[in-house]
Amino acid sequence: METQKALEKHIEECKHRIEIAKECMLLHKDVGASSCMDNIKEWETVILALEKQIPKKAKEDTEESVRYCKVYICPSCGEKFTGGSLSNNCYHCGQTFDWRGWE
Ligand SMILES: [Zn+2]
Repeated sequence: METQKALEKHIEECKHRIEIAKECMLLHKDVGASSCMDNIKEWETVILALEKQIPKKAKEDTEESVRYCKVYICPSCGEKFTGGSLSNNCYHCGQTFDWRGWE
């Protein structure tokens, strides 16, 4: 899957930038490092958004089952939803699901 690889590469780049910003913060401790801090927060937000675009398999909830309907758990936020209408994304956090092998 080429898209997933591209996303993972992008995430690696963002992590690398966070490392650089952290080093920068240590170097400029005395003069205030708020801009480095802002950069780190920004990259972290980007990483979270990118990670949700990588399809993950939803977990099937075996303990709690709704009659005639399977209950799934989002691998990202842990919220439950029924499998009546298999969505491509989590309603709660936007995580992309990989439904291959489920149907
Ligand atoms: Zn979710």
